[in-house]
Amino acid sequence: MTQLRLILGKILNPISDSSIKYYPDGLLVLEKVKAEEYKVVKITRSSEINKYKGEIFDFSDRVIIPSFFDMHFHWVQDDVRQMPKDSLLDWLDKYTFPTEAKFKNKTFSRKEAKHFFKRLVKVGTLGGACFSSVHEHALDDAFENCIGDFVIGNVLMTMNSPKSLIQTKDEAKKTVDNGFKKYKNKYAVTPRFAIATDPETMKYGHEKARKRKAFIQSHLSENKAEIEFVLDIYKNMKGFERVETYTDIYDQVNGLGPQTLMAHGIHLSSKELTKLARTKTSIIHCPTSNAPTKKLGLGSGLFDFKQVEKHKVRWALGSDIGGGPYLSMFDVMQSFVAQNNSKDATYSKALFRSTLMGAKILGIEKTHGNLQRNKWGNLLVLSKIKTYQDDCPEKILKRICHKYRNSREKYDTLVENVFYKGKMI
Ligand SMILES: [Zn+2]
Repeated sequence: MTQLRLILGKILNPISDSSIKYYPDGLLVLEKVKAEEYKVVKITRSSEINKYKGEIFDFSDRVIIPSFFDMHFHWVQDDVRQMPKDSLLDWLDKYTFPTEAKFKNKTFSRKEAKHFFKRLVKVGTLGGACFSSVHEHALDDAFENCIGDFVIGNVLMTMNSPKSLIQTKDEAKKTVDNGFKKYKNKYAVTPRFAIATDPETMKYGHEKARKRKAFIQSHLSENKAEIEFVLDIYKNMKGFERVETYTDIYDQVNGLGPQTLMAHGIHLSSKELTKLARTKTSIIHCPTSNAPTKKLGLGSGLFDFKQVEKHKVRWALGSDIGGGPYLSMFDVMQSFVAQNNSKDATYSKALFRSTLMGAKILGIEKTHGNLQRNKWGNLLVLSKIKTYQDDCPEKILKRICHKYRNSREKYDTLVENVFYKGKMI
């Protein structure tokens, strides 16, 4: 006999930018497929509950959404989230690099990983793409402690980097080989950015990733000083004399493709966007990190999502911890809507880009990203929020995201219960 789990709630199920299905009296039916692992059978009305026999979880007065995908974050930067931020390159030198250097200590790294990944579950993030420090044991700690579906990579740093972190090319390449050996396709080749990773090492990693159909992640066009600096470096490098844009640099080292995630992509020309679209490269937009410094961001600029969509470049949302100050994707969603004075920047879009779109980019949308049939029972039960008879998904999401916009650290408390593969964790 099949074993069922019956979850009652006000269910919001994201389908696309403009479509969120809402079941005010919803019943989510989950079916056991393996030991303690459940998949979605269907969402129906709570009045149908008598048709099923199973363990009942009654959250009828709570909103339920699928779990989040955070498509760009640095788990080793949790301690610099709220350090003073004047500009990207200064902040990296003053706070981020010294913090990441501390992960050389194995005891410290293990302790931090336990703490960080517990928090990540608490805020409802069960998937995404993550940067670790250069240290191989820190990568092990991340894989050991994360719950959910993540690709993770150690950053590669072979030039323009502090003594405490810099690697030789051989050392960096070896971390790539070891990463694949241990973690197969869960390992993401992660050049920090073209400023810090030399072209030979990038090319080596990118080619390995392509051969194994694994992911590549890096940063692209976050801030104007960064762009000037990177072009300045590469124009003086053999083989790159004629390079015109930041995007061209990654292209020339075989770094663009359907399994490449580029964080930020704020200051891109139409030509660059066309290239990203043609290679099916994704951009990960991190609004809380790009926000003005008075909003605790790095003041990098506004992501032009309309231009990006016009060029048909795929994009999803990320927290960019520690460039972004808070771990909760609700904070990221709120920031995306607040920054864009546009009727197209909706909470529905923000939810879609924080869930199903992430799963699509990772190529696991058949089993992840929302609560459709045959997907894993990965969902969040939110703390109580008022709902009304004439509510639509957009209104409910707005109410949820508005709740803590002036006390942002409290977004961490919005998720009451987390189900991973149908199991409450
Ligand atoms: Zn980042």
